[in-house]
Amino acid sequence: MGRAETGPYNRAVIDVAIVGGGPAGLLTAARLAGAGLDVVLFEEHARIGEPTHCSGIVSLETAEFAKIPDDLVLAHLRSACLHGPRGAQARHEWAHAGEAILAIDRAGFDRSLAAQARAAGAATSAASRTRTERIRRMSDRLR
Ligand SMILES: Cc1cc2nc3c(=O)[nH]c(=O)nc-3n(C[C@H](O)[C@H](O)[C@H](O)COP(=O)(O)OP(=O)(O)OC[C@H]3O[C@@H](n4cnc5c(N)ncnc54)[C@H](O)[C@@H]3O)c2cc1C
Repeated sequence: MGRAETGPYNRAVIDVAIVGGGPAGLLTAARLAGAGLDVVLFEEHARIGEPTHCSGIVSLETAEFAKIPDDLVLAHLRSACLHGPRGAQARHEWAHAGEAILAIDRAGFDRSLAAQARAAGAATSAASRTRTERIRRMSDRLR
């Protein structure tokens, strides 16, 4: 098993094993570890956030909910053009700055969530593709 990020997942007892180091898994890891649970998160890739399969366009609500740091905001976008599969297009402009959408550094966002999860006490293990058997093997350590 790889331990490119951190590795202390071999705790005697684990409350929660999370498979997948994307925003959902990382936010969950941070929240549960912050609530005092022993959490381990497995990510199949060697580095959390890479490769990036996301344009990094998010709403202000998402940025607020996920507490996206300002230094990860690449641009405030005021207009968008949506392209349909058959050539249809729709353009939208946001008149007020408070309605803009953001382009963020998505890999950096994932890395910052991983740092938050680790700071809350979660263990993250990269290069760890996880199959059902691994969870089954760990089951005697899962509370
Ligand atoms: C091309 C593209 C562009 C996008 N652009 C935007 C955008 O601009 N704005 C937006 O809001 N959303 C965008 N999205 C959607 C956005 O990327 C997803 O909604 C978001 O990443 C979902 O987060 P998640 O944590 O649920 O899953 P993911 O980010 O997919 O994370 C899941 C993680 O689990 C890992 N994993 C999977 N199976 C295993 C396993 N067995 N063992 C270990 N690890 C495993 C994966 O490697 C991955 O890192 C885009 C998606 C794509 C594909």
